[in-house]
Amino acid sequence: MAKRAVKKVQAAAKPKAKAKPVALHPLIDKGNLGKAKAKFAGGTLTCKCASDPVTVTIASQTAHNHACGCSKCWKPKGAIFSVVAVVPSDKVKVTANGHKLKLVDANATIQRHACTGCGTHMYGRVENSKHGFHGLDFVHTELSKDKGWSPPEFAAFVSSVIETGTDPAMMPAIRSRLKKVGLPPYDCLSPGLMDYLATHAAKLSGVRKA
Ligand SMILES: [Zn+2]
Ligand SMILES: [Zn+2]
Repeated sequence: MAKRAVKKVQAAAKPKAKAKPVALHPLIDKGNLGKAKAKFAGGTLTCKCASDPVTVTIASQTAHNHACGCSKCWKPKGAIFSVVAVVPSDKVKVTANGHKLKLVDANATIQRHACTGCGTHMYGRVENSKHGFHGLDFVHTELSKDKGWSPPEFAAFVSSVIETGTDPAMMPAIRSRLKKVGLPPYDCLSPGLMDYLATHAAKLSGVRKA
């Protein structure tokens, strides 16, 4: 056997290199979620368009920032998780090129407004006045250069990444990576937010006093 052919056979027999870990989200993959700045008063989100970008100004710190595995939230290229936070709707203002925004799905609870140029979701509003999250907008603070936004605290709808193409066999590794960076994984929202929504529903139905 020629030398080169022997080498080839040896290479083929070598065990495969460990599979590259799935890209969850740049922030999670970096392993450093950042820190909220005291008295942080907000900043500006800018879409990914090279010219005439849409800008959205947020006049407040965000709350309940989290990684989301659902199929609807906007994710940066290659990521399987979104990182999304909430902020009072009255603190959110489109400040440039709002004509480029288009509603993604009018039937969704969260009315996400995406840039028609680059696809980035700039804000998602809960218009249903009966919903527990009414009055809040969902935003992606990674679209801002300002430093000091509240970091993600948990991971929501983790099992849903399977619905967008992730191999179910990867789930134990994904959950363990999320835990390692400090994002407890849940398959719905966090217990705190689920309790909040259920309390709201109990008040609406009259089971609890408003
Ligand atoms: Zn854009
Ligand atoms: Zn989501």
